[in-house]
Amino acid sequence: MGRYIGPVCRLCRREGVKLFLKGEKCITKCILDRRRKPPGQHGELRRKQTEYGKRLREKQKLRRIYNVREEQFVRYFEMATKMPGNTGENFLQLLERRLDNVVYRLGFALSRNHARQLIVHGHITVNGRTVDIPSYLVDVGDVISVKEDMRDNPDVQRALEVRGEWTVPKWLSRDTETLTGRVLSLPTRDQIDVPVDENLVVEFYSR
Ligand code: SF4
Repeated sequence: MGRYIGPVCRLCRREGVKLFLKGEKCITKCILDRRRKPPGQHGELRRKQTEYGKRLREKQKLRRIYNVREEQFVRYFEMATKMPGNTGENFLQLLERRLDNVVYRLGFALSRNHARQLIVHGHITVNGRTVDIPSYLVDVGDVISVKEDMRDNPDVQRALEVRGEWTVPKWLSRDTETLTGRVLSLPTRDQIDVPVDENLVVEFYSR
């Protein structure tokens, strides 16, 4: 399945929650702050959800938040089942450790999609080396930086302005002067701010 390229607000309306897919507009002009009707002419007339439907929606919501294709999402789930501990938490932790998510969490990008662009265009380094793979998994001790020639970029500066006051999760630290972040620890469930019941996602793939 390819990457979704349609209107992203439609995805939020479908899930009934803000997924923060559009950058600055999500904060200043979100359609969901006004109405929460699902998309489509008959959006409000949807039938009661089945148990399968609930799990499917939760899975889709999580996948859309991190903007990951289905095949890669399944691979993360398989990795999570092989790790010690709780599969749902492992799954979220793997998603959270993606480089595009980390650049977003550090406030250097307006959205995960913007973070993805910065990475694929070679503007991000990890431990001093350019990494152009958005799915790169960061580890404890890694240092993530925006390259010097991009630090005055208007979109990066706007991201810092709009998102700079958002709290950086406790598993990361940030220096807004050098646009550098460090991974202090791996994220625990309470440090992962996503409106998803990961147990339903695990049940979806375990059926
Ligand atoms: Fe659109 Fe962002 Fe609001 Fe979602 S959170 S509906 S992407 S503006």
